[in-house]
Amino acid sequence: MGKTIIIIGAGIAGLSAGCYGQMNGYHTQIFEMHDKPGGLCTAWKRRGYTFDGCIHSIGGLNPRYKLYHYWNELVSMEKLKFFYFDELARIENSDGNTVRVFTDPDKLEQELISIAPEDGRFINSFITAVKKLPSRDMQLDKPLELWNPLDYYLSQFRTAPIIKDLFRWRKSVADTAKKCKSPLLKYLLNSEFFSHFPTYFLIFSLGHLHNMNAGYPIGGSLAFSGLLEKRYLDLGGQIHYNAKVAKVNVRNNRAIGITLESGETHGENGIVVSAADGHYTVFELLGGRYVNKKIRKLYDDHPIWPSAVIVYLGVSRTFEKEPPVIELSLKKALVVDKRSRLDRIPVTIYNFDPTLAPEGKTCIRVILQPADYQYWHHLRNSDRQKYKQDKDRIANEVIRLLEQHLGNMEDNIEVTDVVTPATFERYTNNWQGSIQGWEWLPRLIPESMRKELPGLRNFYMVGQWVEPGGGVPTAFISGRNLIQIICKRDKKKFATKLPAKY
Ligand SMILES: Cc1cc2nc3c(=O)[nH]c(=O)nc-3n(C[C@H](O)[C@H](O)[C@H](O)COP(=O)(O)OP(=O)(O)OC[C@H]3O[C@@H](n4cnc5c(N)ncnc54)[C@H](O)[C@@H]3O)c2cc1C
Repeated sequence: MGKTIIIIGAGIAGLSAGCYGQMNGYHTQIFEMHDKPGGLCTAWKRRGYTFDGCIHSIGGLNPRYKLYHYWNELVSMEKLKFFYFDELARIENSDGNTVRVFTDPDKLEQELISIAPEDGRFINSFITAVKKLPSRDMQLDKPLELWNPLDYYLSQFRTAPIIKDLFRWRKSVADTAKKCKSPLLKYLLNSEFFSHFPTYFLIFSLGHLHNMNAGYPIGGSLAFSGLLEKRYLDLGGQIHYNAKVAKVNVRNNRAIGITLESGETHGENGIVVSAADGHYTVFELLGGRYVNKKIRKLYDDHPIWPSAVIVYLGVSRTFEKEPPVIELSLKKALVVDKRSRLDRIPVTIYNFDPTLAPEGKTCIRVILQPADYQYWHHLRNSDRQKYKQDKDRIANEVIRLLEQHLGNMEDNIEVTDVVTPATFERYTNNWQGSIQGWEWLPRLIPESMRKELPGLRNFYMVGQWVEPGGGVPTAFISGRNLIQIICKRDKKKFATKLPAKY
Protein backbone atom coordinates (compact mmCIF):
# COMPACT_ATOMS: atom_id res chain seq x y z
CA MET A 1 0.00 0.00 0.00
CA GLY A 2 1.23 3.46 -0.92
CA LYS A 3 0.87 6.77 0.80
CA THR A 4 -1.89 7.53 3.25
CA ILE A 5 -4.63 10.05 2.46
CA ILE A 6 -6.75 11.38 5.30
CA ILE A 7 -10.11 12.69 4.08
CA ILE A 8 -12.35 14.93 6.17
CA GLY A 9 -16.03 14.34 5.36
CA ALA A 10 -17.98 11.45 3.80
CA GLY A 11 -20.15 13.58 1.52
CA ILE A 12 -20.14 12.85 -2.21
CA ALA A 13 -16.77 14.59 -2.73
CA GLY A 14 -15.10 12.77 0.18
CA LEU A 15 -16.43 9.37 -0.90
CA SER A 16 -15.36 10.02 -4.49
CA ALA A 17 -11.83 11.05 -3.44
CA GLY A 18 -11.74 7.97 -1.21
CA CYS A 19 -12.79 5.56 -3.98
CA TYR A 20 -10.35 6.91 -6.55
CA GLY A 21 -7.61 7.08 -3.91
CA GLN A 22 -8.10 3.38 -3.16
CA MET A 23 -8.19 2.51 -6.87
CA ASN A 24 -4.85 4.25 -7.27
CA GLY A 25 -3.01 2.46 -4.53
CA TYR A 26 -3.37 4.99 -1.71
CA HIS A 27 -4.38 3.95 1.77
CA THR A 28 -7.29 6.26 2.54
CA GLN A 29 -9.35 6.89 5.66
CA ILE A 30 -12.41 9.12 5.91
CA PHE A 31 -13.38 10.92 9.12
CA GLU A 32 -17.05 11.93 9.17
CA MET A 33 -18.74 13.85 11.99
CA HIS A 34 -22.19 12.38 11.25
CA ASP A 35 -23.23 8.72 11.62
CA LYS A 36 -24.09 8.35 7.92
CA PRO A 37 -22.48 8.91 4.52
CA GLY A 38 -23.70 11.43 1.96
CA GLY A 39 -23.45 14.82 3.70
CA LEU A 40 -26.14 16.96 2.04
CA CYS A 41 -27.00 14.07 -0.27
CA THR A 42 -29.13 12.36 2.34
CA ALA A 43 -32.59 11.23 3.46
CA TRP A 44 -34.23 10.09 6.69
CA LYS A 45 -37.14 7.92 7.71
CA ARG A 46 -40.22 9.01 9.66
CA ARG A 47 -42.95 6.42 10.39
CA GLY A 48 -42.64 4.56 7.10
CA TYR A 49 -41.97 7.63 4.93
CA THR A 50 -38.53 8.45 3.54
CA PHE A 51 -37.99 12.20 3.42
CA ASP A 52 -35.42 13.05 0.78
CA GLY A 53 -32.97 15.82 1.61
CA CYS A 54 -31.43 16.37 -1.75
CA ILE A 55 -31.59 15.12 -5.33
CA HIS A 56 -34.21 16.45 -7.66
CA SER A 57 -32.05 15.49 -10.61
CA ILE A 58 -28.44 14.63 -11.33
CA GLY A 59 -26.56 14.60 -14.61
CA GLY A 60 -24.53 11.88 -16.30
CA LEU A 61 -27.22 9.31 -16.97
CA ASN A 62 -26.79 8.94 -20.72
CA PRO A 63 -23.88 6.81 -22.06
CA ARG A 64 -23.43 9.35 -24.85
CA TYR A 65 -21.79 11.65 -22.28
CA LYS A 66 -18.45 11.19 -20.46
CA LEU A 67 -19.94 11.78 -17.03
CA TYR A 68 -21.98 8.58 -17.35
CA HIS A 69 -18.77 6.57 -17.77
CA TYR A 70 -17.17 8.33 -14.82
CA TRP A 71 -20.17 7.46 -12.59
CA ASN A 72 -19.91 3.94 -13.94
CA GLU A 73 -16.43 3.64 -12.46
CA LEU A 74 -18.08 3.70 -9.04
CA VAL A 75 -21.68 2.54 -9.46
CA SER A 76 -23.19 0.26 -12.05
CA MET A 77 -25.34 2.76 -13.92
CA GLU A 78 -27.14 0.11 -15.94
CA LYS A 79 -28.52 -1.46 -12.79
CA LEU A 80 -29.90 1.78 -11.37
CA LYS A 81 -33.40 3.00 -12.12
CA PHE A 82 -33.95 6.63 -12.93
CA PHE A 83 -37.06 8.72 -13.34
CA TYR A 84 -36.91 11.05 -16.34
CA PHE A 85 -39.09 14.13 -16.08
CA ASP A 86 -41.53 14.94 -18.87
CA GLU A 87 -43.62 17.67 -17.27
CA LEU A 88 -40.97 19.09 -15.00
CA ALA A 89 -43.16 21.58 -13.19
CA ARG A 90 -46.43 23.44 -13.30
CA ILE A 91 -46.11 27.11 -12.46
CA GLU A 92 -49.18 29.01 -11.29
CA ASN A 93 -49.32 32.79 -11.09
CA SER A 94 -51.52 34.97 -8.88
CA ASP A 95 -54.19 35.36 -11.60
CA GLY A 96 -54.67 31.61 -11.64
CA ASN A 97 -52.88 31.19 -14.98
CA THR A 98 -50.64 28.17 -15.29
CA VAL A 99 -47.64 27.24 -17.42
CA ARG A 100 -46.44 23.68 -17.80
CA VAL A 101 -42.67 23.36 -18.10
CA PHE A 102 -42.02 20.38 -20.34
CA THR A 103 -38.55 18.97 -20.85
CA ASP A 104 -39.35 18.14 -24.48
CA PRO A 105 -38.36 21.36 -26.30
CA ASP A 106 -41.12 21.05 -28.92
CA LYS A 107 -43.82 20.65 -26.27
CA LEU A 108 -42.27 23.46 -24.25
CA GLU A 109 -42.22 25.74 -27.29
CA GLN A 110 -45.90 25.09 -27.96
CA GLU A 111 -46.77 25.77 -24.33
CA LEU A 112 -44.76 28.99 -24.20
CA ILE A 113 -46.13 30.28 -27.49
CA SER A 114 -49.65 29.59 -26.25
CA ILE A 115 -49.12 31.77 -23.15
CA ALA A 116 -46.87 34.40 -24.76
CA PRO A 117 -47.40 34.68 -28.53
CA GLU A 118 -45.99 38.22 -28.39
CA ASP A 119 -42.59 36.73 -27.39
CA GLY A 120 -42.49 34.25 -30.27
CA ARG A 121 -39.04 35.26 -31.52
CA PHE A 122 -37.48 35.04 -28.08
CA ILE A 123 -39.13 31.67 -27.41
CA ASN A 124 -37.97 30.32 -30.71
CA SER A 125 -34.33 31.26 -30.13
CA PHE A 126 -34.46 29.93 -26.56
CA ILE A 127 -35.83 26.58 -27.75
CA THR A 128 -33.24 26.42 -30.53
CA ALA A 129 -30.55 26.79 -27.87
CA VAL A 130 -32.17 24.08 -25.70
CA LYS A 131 -31.96 21.72 -28.66
CA LYS A 132 -28.44 22.67 -29.66
CA LEU A 133 -26.26 23.41 -26.63
CA PRO A 134 -26.72 20.30 -24.49
CA SER A 135 -26.01 18.02 -27.43
CA ARG A 136 -22.33 18.90 -26.90
CA ASP A 137 -20.49 17.13 -24.12
CA MET A 138 -18.83 19.86 -22.05
CA GLN A 139 -17.34 17.50 -19.45
CA LEU A 140 -13.56 17.96 -19.29
CA ASP A 141 -11.27 14.93 -19.69
CA LYS A 142 -9.01 16.05 -16.90
CA PRO A 143 -8.84 18.75 -14.23
CA LEU A 144 -7.92 22.27 -15.36
CA GLU A 145 -4.91 22.08 -13.03
CA LEU A 146 -3.40 19.45 -15.35
CA TRP A 147 -4.05 21.25 -18.60
CA ASN A 148 -1.06 21.96 -20.82
CA PRO A 149 -0.88 24.51 -23.67
CA LEU A 150 -2.16 21.86 -26.10
CA ASP A 151 -5.28 21.26 -23.96
CA TYR A 152 -6.04 24.98 -23.99
CA TYR A 153 -5.48 25.08 -27.73
CA LEU A 154 -7.75 22.07 -28.38
CA SER A 155 -10.47 23.36 -26.05
CA GLN A 156 -11.14 26.16 -28.52
CA PHE A 157 -12.33 23.61 -31.05
CA ARG A 158 -14.67 22.07 -28.51
CA THR A 159 -16.29 25.36 -27.55
CA ALA A 160 -16.02 27.16 -30.92
CA PRO A 161 -19.31 25.81 -32.34
CA ILE A 162 -21.29 27.10 -29.36
CA ILE A 163 -19.28 30.07 -28.14
CA LYS A 164 -21.66 32.56 -29.78
CA ASP A 165 -24.62 30.88 -28.06
CA LEU A 166 -22.87 30.81 -24.69
CA PHE A 167 -22.08 34.50 -25.08
CA ARG A 168 -25.65 35.28 -26.06
CA TRP A 169 -27.12 33.40 -23.06
CA ARG A 170 -24.53 34.35 -20.44
CA LYS A 171 -26.74 36.89 -18.62
CA SER A 172 -28.78 35.86 -15.62
CA VAL A 173 -32.21 34.41 -16.31
CA ALA A 174 -33.74 37.43 -14.53
CA ASP A 175 -31.92 39.81 -16.90
CA THR A 176 -32.91 37.73 -19.90
CA ALA A 177 -36.54 37.86 -18.72
CA LYS A 178 -36.49 41.66 -19.00
CA LYS A 179 -36.58 41.28 -22.79
CA CYS A 180 -39.90 39.44 -22.66
CA LYS A 181 -43.22 41.23 -23.05
CA SER A 182 -45.57 38.65 -21.60
CA PRO A 183 -46.04 39.08 -17.83
CA LEU A 184 -46.65 35.34 -17.46
CA LEU A 185 -43.43 34.42 -19.27
CA LYS A 186 -41.55 36.98 -17.15
CA TYR A 187 -43.11 35.46 -14.06
CA LEU A 188 -41.99 31.99 -15.14
CA LEU A 189 -38.40 33.06 -15.75
CA ASN A 190 -38.22 34.94 -12.46
CA SER A 191 -38.61 31.75 -10.46
CA GLU A 192 -36.49 31.98 -7.28
CA PHE A 193 -34.63 28.77 -8.06
CA PHE A 194 -32.89 29.73 -11.28
CA SER A 195 -33.49 33.44 -11.92
CA HIS A 196 -29.97 34.51 -10.87
CA PHE A 197 -28.08 31.81 -12.77
CA PRO A 198 -26.62 32.33 -16.24
CA THR A 199 -29.36 31.59 -18.77
CA TYR A 200 -27.20 28.91 -20.41
CA PHE A 201 -27.43 26.98 -17.12
CA LEU A 202 -31.21 26.77 -17.54
CA ILE A 203 -30.76 25.84 -21.21
CA PHE A 204 -28.31 23.02 -20.42
CA SER A 205 -30.51 21.77 -17.55
CA LEU A 206 -33.63 21.54 -19.71
CA GLY A 207 -31.72 19.96 -22.58
CA HIS A 208 -30.10 17.30 -20.39
CA LEU A 209 -33.43 16.47 -18.77
CA HIS A 210 -34.84 16.00 -22.25
CA ASN A 211 -32.04 13.89 -23.68
CA MET A 212 -32.14 11.56 -20.67
CA ASN A 213 -28.78 12.71 -19.42
CA ALA A 214 -30.36 14.01 -16.19
CA GLY A 215 -33.01 12.53 -13.93
CA TYR A 216 -33.84 11.35 -10.45
CA PRO A 217 -32.42 8.08 -9.02
CA ILE A 218 -35.26 5.90 -7.75
CA GLY A 219 -34.67 5.17 -4.08
CA GLY A 220 -33.51 8.74 -3.48
CA SER A 221 -30.41 10.50 -2.22
CA LEU A 222 -29.30 8.36 0.71
CA ALA A 223 -29.67 5.17 -1.31
CA PHE A 224 -27.47 6.79 -3.96
CA SER A 225 -24.83 7.95 -1.43
CA GLY A 226 -24.98 4.46 0.07
CA LEU A 227 -23.79 3.00 -3.24
CA LEU A 228 -20.69 5.19 -3.15
CA GLU A 229 -20.09 4.25 0.49
CA LYS A 230 -20.37 0.54 -0.38
CA ARG A 231 -18.00 0.92 -3.30
CA TYR A 232 -15.49 2.71 -1.06
CA LEU A 233 -15.64 0.03 1.63
CA ASP A 234 -15.35 -2.74 -0.97
CA LEU A 235 -12.23 -1.06 -2.28
CA GLY A 236 -10.75 -1.39 1.20
CA GLY A 237 -11.37 2.15 2.44
CA GLN A 238 -12.12 2.91 6.08
CA ILE A 239 -14.77 5.33 7.35
CA HIS A 240 -14.80 6.58 10.92
CA TYR A 241 -18.27 7.90 11.74
CA ASN A 242 -19.09 10.23 14.65
CA ALA A 243 -15.55 11.53 14.24
CA LYS A 244 -15.57 15.31 13.99
CA VAL A 245 -12.26 16.79 12.94
CA ALA A 246 -11.28 19.78 15.11
CA LYS A 247 -7.93 20.70 13.62
CA VAL A 248 -5.61 20.09 10.70
CA ASN A 249 -2.16 19.67 12.23
CA VAL A 250 0.59 21.68 10.58
CA ARG A 251 4.35 21.69 10.97
CA ASN A 252 6.56 24.05 8.96
CA ASN A 253 3.60 24.93 6.73
CA ARG A 254 3.02 21.30 5.87
CA ALA A 255 -0.18 19.45 6.87
CA ILE A 256 0.70 16.50 9.08
CA GLY A 257 -2.62 14.85 9.85
CA ILE A 258 -5.67 15.79 11.87
CA THR A 259 -6.89 16.03 15.44
CA LEU A 260 -10.43 14.92 16.23
CA GLU A 261 -12.67 16.61 18.77
CA SER A 262 -11.99 13.61 21.00
CA GLY A 263 -8.30 14.57 20.99
CA GLU A 264 -7.15 11.59 18.90
CA THR A 265 -4.68 12.37 16.13
CA HIS A 266 -4.41 10.57 12.80
CA GLY A 267 -2.39 10.47 9.62
CA GLU A 268 0.81 12.16 10.58
CA ASN A 269 2.56 10.97 7.44
CA GLY A 270 -0.38 11.28 5.08
CA ILE A 271 -1.78 13.82 2.68
CA VAL A 272 -4.76 15.71 4.20
CA VAL A 273 -7.86 16.38 2.08
CA SER A 274 -10.79 18.39 3.37
CA ALA A 275 -14.06 17.43 1.70
CA ALA A 276 -15.90 19.36 4.42
CA ASP A 277 -17.31 22.87 4.55
CA GLY A 278 -14.96 25.50 3.08
CA HIS A 279 -15.32 28.20 5.72
CA TYR A 280 -14.88 25.73 8.57
CA THR A 281 -11.82 24.24 6.87
CA VAL A 282 -10.09 27.53 6.13
CA PHE A 283 -10.97 29.47 9.28
CA GLU A 284 -11.45 26.80 11.97
CA LEU A 285 -9.47 23.69 11.04
CA LEU A 286 -6.57 25.86 9.85
CA GLY A 287 -7.27 28.93 12.00
CA GLY A 288 -7.36 31.32 9.00
CA ARG A 289 -3.55 31.15 8.65
CA TYR A 290 -3.49 30.16 4.97
CA VAL A 291 -5.53 32.83 3.22
CA ASN A 292 -4.67 35.56 0.78
CA LYS A 293 -6.71 38.58 -0.30
CA LYS A 294 -8.53 36.55 -2.92
CA ILE A 295 -9.72 33.91 -0.45
CA ARG A 296 -10.74 36.52 2.11
CA LYS A 297 -12.71 38.38 -0.53
CA LEU A 298 -14.35 35.14 -1.58
CA TYR A 299 -15.65 34.45 1.92
CA ASP A 300 -16.56 38.14 2.46
CA ASP A 301 -18.34 38.87 -0.80
CA HIS A 302 -19.12 35.91 -3.02
CA PRO A 303 -22.81 34.95 -3.00
CA ILE A 304 -23.62 31.51 -1.65
CA TRP A 305 -26.64 29.31 -2.23
CA PRO A 306 -28.85 30.43 0.60
CA SER A 307 -30.14 28.10 3.22
CA ALA A 308 -33.75 26.95 3.37
CA VAL A 309 -36.57 25.92 5.61
CA ILE A 310 -38.02 22.71 4.19
CA VAL A 311 -41.38 21.26 5.12
CA TYR A 312 -41.84 17.50 4.63
CA LEU A 313 -45.22 15.83 4.74
CA GLY A 314 -46.21 12.18 4.75
CA VAL A 315 -49.68 12.05 3.25
CA SER A 316 -51.99 9.03 3.19
CA ARG A 317 -53.23 9.55 -0.36
CA THR A 318 -51.94 9.57 -3.92
CA PHE A 319 -51.65 12.39 -6.44
CA GLU A 320 -51.79 10.61 -9.80
CA LYS A 321 -52.86 13.67 -11.75
CA GLU A 322 -50.29 16.08 -10.38
CA PRO A 323 -46.87 16.82 -11.95
CA PRO A 324 -43.70 16.25 -9.88
CA VAL A 325 -43.46 19.94 -8.96
CA ILE A 326 -46.13 22.60 -8.66
CA GLU A 327 -45.07 26.16 -7.98
CA LEU A 328 -47.88 27.89 -6.15
CA SER A 329 -48.44 31.60 -6.19
CA LEU A 330 -49.64 32.95 -2.84
CA LYS A 331 -52.12 35.79 -2.43
CA LYS A 332 -50.59 36.62 0.93
CA ALA A 333 -46.85 36.11 1.43
CA LEU A 334 -45.75 33.22 3.60
CA VAL A 335 -43.58 34.57 6.40
CA VAL A 336 -40.62 32.21 6.79
CA ASP A 337 -38.64 34.41 9.16
CA LYS A 338 -37.78 38.05 9.79
CA ARG A 339 -36.11 38.49 6.40
CA SER A 340 -37.87 36.05 4.19
CA ARG A 341 -41.43 36.36 2.91
CA LEU A 342 -42.31 34.21 -0.04
CA ASP A 343 -45.08 34.77 -2.54
CA ARG A 344 -44.38 31.61 -4.50
CA ILE A 345 -43.52 28.17 -3.17
CA PRO A 346 -42.38 25.02 -5.02
CA VAL A 347 -44.12 21.82 -3.94
CA THR A 348 -42.49 18.51 -4.88
CA ILE A 349 -44.91 15.62 -4.97
CA TYR A 350 -42.91 12.38 -4.91
CA ASN A 351 -45.46 10.46 -6.92
CA PHE A 352 -42.53 9.50 -9.17
CA ASP A 353 -40.75 7.41 -6.51
CA PRO A 354 -42.98 4.75 -4.96
CA THR A 355 -40.10 3.47 -2.80
CA LEU A 356 -40.30 6.53 -0.55
CA ALA A 357 -43.78 5.94 0.91
CA PRO A 358 -45.99 2.96 1.73
CA GLU A 359 -48.45 1.95 -0.98
CA GLY A 360 -51.24 4.47 -1.48
CA LYS A 361 -49.27 7.19 0.35
CA THR A 362 -47.01 10.01 -0.80
CA CYS A 363 -44.14 12.20 0.43
CA ILE A 364 -44.30 15.92 -0.22
CA ARG A 365 -41.44 18.41 0.09
CA VAL A 366 -41.82 22.19 0.11
CA ILE A 367 -38.57 24.15 -0.09
CA LEU A 368 -38.85 27.65 1.38
CA GLN A 369 -35.86 29.56 0.14
CA PRO A 370 -34.11 31.81 0.99
CA ALA A 371 -34.25 31.44 4.75
CA ASP A 372 -32.38 33.66 7.17
CA TYR A 373 -29.54 31.57 8.63
CA GLN A 374 -28.82 34.03 11.49
CA TYR A 375 -32.41 34.00 12.65
CA TRP A 376 -32.75 30.20 12.81
CA HIS A 377 -29.27 29.59 14.18
CA HIS A 378 -29.83 32.09 16.98
CA LEU A 379 -33.38 30.92 17.72
CA ARG A 380 -32.41 27.27 18.04
CA ASN A 381 -29.59 28.15 20.42
CA SER A 382 -31.52 30.65 22.51
CA ASP A 383 -35.14 29.50 22.67
CA ARG A 384 -35.84 25.89 21.74
CA GLN A 385 -39.57 26.25 22.48
CA LYS A 386 -40.02 29.23 20.15
CA TYR A 387 -37.89 27.43 17.53
CA LYS A 388 -40.32 24.51 17.62
CA GLN A 389 -43.33 26.86 17.58
CA ASP A 390 -41.95 28.62 14.50
CA LYS A 391 -41.41 25.31 12.70
CA ASP A 392 -44.97 24.23 13.61
CA ARG A 393 -46.38 27.56 12.43
CA ILE A 394 -44.71 27.19 9.03
CA ALA A 395 -45.77 23.55 8.65
CA ASN A 396 -49.39 24.41 9.50
CA GLU A 397 -49.38 27.30 7.07
CA VAL A 398 -47.98 25.09 4.29
CA ILE A 399 -50.62 22.43 4.98
CA ARG A 400 -53.35 25.08 4.86
CA LEU A 401 -52.05 26.36 1.51
CA LEU A 402 -51.90 22.85 0.08
CA GLU A 403 -55.44 22.20 1.29
CA GLN A 404 -56.55 25.31 -0.63
CA HIS A 405 -54.68 24.37 -3.79
CA LEU A 406 -54.88 20.60 -3.92
CA GLY A 407 -57.72 19.76 -1.54
CA ASN A 408 -58.12 16.64 0.59
CA MET A 409 -54.88 17.26 2.50
CA GLU A 410 -55.50 18.16 6.14
CA ASP A 411 -57.21 14.89 7.05
CA ASN A 412 -54.51 12.85 5.35
CA ILE A 413 -51.38 14.27 6.94
CA GLU A 414 -49.70 11.45 8.86
CA VAL A 415 -46.23 12.87 9.44
CA THR A 416 -44.78 16.37 9.40
CA ASP A 417 -41.12 17.26 9.60
CA VAL A 418 -39.44 20.65 9.22
CA VAL A 419 -35.74 21.34 8.69
CA THR A 420 -34.17 24.76 9.03
CA PRO A 421 -30.79 26.36 8.34
CA ALA A 422 -29.83 25.29 11.88
CA THR A 423 -30.52 21.66 10.87
CA PHE A 424 -28.28 21.92 7.81
CA GLU A 425 -25.54 23.39 9.95
CA ARG A 426 -25.90 20.75 12.67
CA TYR A 427 -25.89 17.75 10.36
CA THR A 428 -23.46 18.85 7.64
CA ASN A 429 -21.50 21.76 9.13
CA ASN A 430 -22.14 23.81 6.00
CA TRP A 431 -21.42 27.50 6.37
CA GLN A 432 -24.58 29.51 7.09
CA GLY A 433 -26.55 26.35 6.40
CA SER A 434 -25.88 26.73 2.66
CA ILE A 435 -27.41 23.92 0.65
CA GLN A 436 -25.02 23.99 -2.30
CA GLY A 437 -21.94 26.17 -1.61
CA TRP A 438 -21.02 29.05 -3.94
CA GLU A 439 -23.59 30.36 -6.37
CA TRP A 440 -22.92 30.42 -10.09
CA LEU A 441 -22.17 33.89 -11.36
CA PRO A 442 -23.58 34.91 -14.74
CA ARG A 443 -20.36 34.85 -16.75
CA LEU A 444 -19.23 33.47 -20.07
CA ILE A 445 -16.51 31.29 -18.56
CA PRO A 446 -17.51 29.59 -15.32
CA GLU A 447 -15.34 30.46 -12.34
CA SER A 448 -12.72 28.03 -11.16
CA MET A 449 -11.20 27.85 -7.69
CA ARG A 450 -7.98 26.34 -6.41
CA LYS A 451 -7.96 23.13 -4.39
CA GLU A 452 -4.87 24.26 -2.46
CA LEU A 453 -4.33 27.05 0.04
CA PRO A 454 -1.49 29.55 -0.32
CA GLY A 455 1.60 28.61 1.70
CA LEU A 456 0.33 25.22 2.88
CA ARG A 457 1.81 21.98 1.54
CA ASN A 458 0.39 18.48 1.59
CA PHE A 459 -3.19 19.74 1.90
CA TYR A 460 -6.11 19.91 -0.56
CA MET A 461 -9.80 20.82 -0.59
CA VAL A 462 -12.53 19.17 -2.66
CA GLY A 463 -16.30 19.48 -2.98
CA GLN A 464 -18.82 22.24 -3.35
CA TRP A 465 -16.67 24.90 -1.65
CA VAL A 466 -14.01 24.75 -4.36
CA GLU A 467 -16.37 24.07 -7.26
CA PRO A 468 -18.73 27.04 -7.76
CA GLY A 469 -22.29 25.98 -8.44
CA GLY A 470 -21.97 22.81 -6.35
CA GLY A 471 -24.21 19.82 -6.93
CA VAL A 472 -23.80 16.07 -6.63
CA PRO A 473 -22.03 15.36 -9.96
CA THR A 474 -19.71 18.33 -9.40
CA ALA A 475 -18.74 17.06 -5.95
CA PHE A 476 -18.12 13.61 -7.44
CA ILE A 477 -15.90 14.99 -10.22
CA SER A 478 -14.07 17.17 -7.70
CA GLY A 479 -12.94 14.09 -5.76
CA ARG A 480 -12.01 12.28 -8.97
CA ASN A 481 -10.04 15.28 -10.25
CA LEU A 482 -8.08 15.60 -7.02
CA ILE A 483 -6.82 12.04 -7.18
CA GLN A 484 -5.75 12.65 -10.79
CA ILE A 485 -3.76 15.66 -9.56
CA ILE A 486 -2.17 13.70 -6.70
CA CYS A 487 -1.30 10.82 -9.06
CA LYS A 488 0.34 13.24 -11.47
CA ARG A 489 2.45 14.72 -8.66
CA ASP A 490 3.42 11.22 -7.57
CA LYS A 491 4.28 10.38 -11.20
CA LYS A 492 1.65 7.63 -11.29
CA LYS A 493 -0.73 6.82 -14.10
CA PHE A 494 -4.29 7.59 -12.95
CA ALA A 495 -6.16 4.27 -12.83
CA THR A 496 -9.85 3.48 -12.68
CA LYS A 497 -11.47 0.09 -12.48
CA LEU A 498 -14.15 -0.15 -15.10
CA PRO A 499 -16.89 -1.15 -14.77
CA ALA A 500 -18.16 -1.34 -11.20
CA LYS A 501 -19.49 -4.78 -10.41
CA TYR A 502 -22.78 -3.68 -8.80
C1 LIG B 1 -32.54 20.45 -0.58
C2 LIG B 1 -31.36 20.19 -1.48
C3 LIG B 1 -31.59 19.87 -2.80
C4 LIG B 1 -30.50 19.61 -3.65
N1 LIG B 1 -30.76 19.22 -4.92
C5 LIG B 1 -29.74 18.86 -5.71
C6 LIG B 1 -30.01 18.30 -7.00
O1 LIG B 1 -31.17 18.11 -7.40
N2 LIG B 1 -28.95 17.97 -7.80
C7 LIG B 1 -27.66 18.16 -7.39
O2 LIG B 1 -26.74 17.83 -8.14
N3 LIG B 1 -27.37 18.70 -6.17
C8 LIG B 1 -28.38 19.04 -5.31
N4 LIG B 1 -28.11 19.55 -4.07
C9 LIG B 1 -26.73 19.94 -3.72
C10 LIG B 1 -25.83 18.77 -3.34
O3 LIG B 1 -26.45 18.02 -2.34
C11 LIG B 1 -24.49 19.28 -2.81
O4 LIG B 1 -23.95 20.30 -3.62
C12 LIG B 1 -23.46 18.14 -2.74
O5 LIG B 1 -24.03 17.00 -2.15
C13 LIG B 1 -22.24 18.62 -1.92
O6 LIG B 1 -21.37 17.54 -1.67
P1 LIG B 1 -20.01 17.78 -0.89
O7 LIG B 1 -19.40 16.43 -0.69
O8 LIG B 1 -19.19 18.81 -1.60
O9 LIG B 1 -20.39 18.46 0.51
P2 LIG B 1 -21.29 17.96 1.74
O10 LIG B 1 -22.43 17.19 1.30
O11 LIG B 1 -21.53 19.17 2.57
O12 LIG B 1 -20.33 16.97 2.54
C14 LIG B 1 -19.42 17.41 3.52
C15 LIG B 1 -19.29 16.32 4.56
O13 LIG B 1 -18.29 16.71 5.51
C16 LIG B 1 -18.74 16.42 6.82
N5 LIG B 1 -18.05 17.32 7.74
C17 LIG B 1 -18.15 18.66 7.81
N6 LIG B 1 -17.32 19.14 8.76
C18 LIG B 1 -16.67 18.07 9.28
C19 LIG B 1 -15.70 17.92 10.30
N7 LIG B 1 -15.20 18.98 10.97
N8 LIG B 1 -15.27 16.66 10.61
C20 LIG B 1 -15.77 15.58 9.95
N9 LIG B 1 -16.70 15.67 8.98
C21 LIG B 1 -17.14 16.91 8.64
C22 LIG B 1 -20.24 16.67 6.74
O14 LIG B 1 -20.93 16.03 7.80
C23 LIG B 1 -20.57 16.09 5.37
O15 LIG B 1 -20.85 14.72 5.44
C24 LIG B 1 -29.16 19.77 -3.18
C25 LIG B 1 -28.94 20.08 -1.85
C26 LIG B 1 -30.03 20.26 -0.99
C27 LIG B 1 -29.78 20.53 0.47
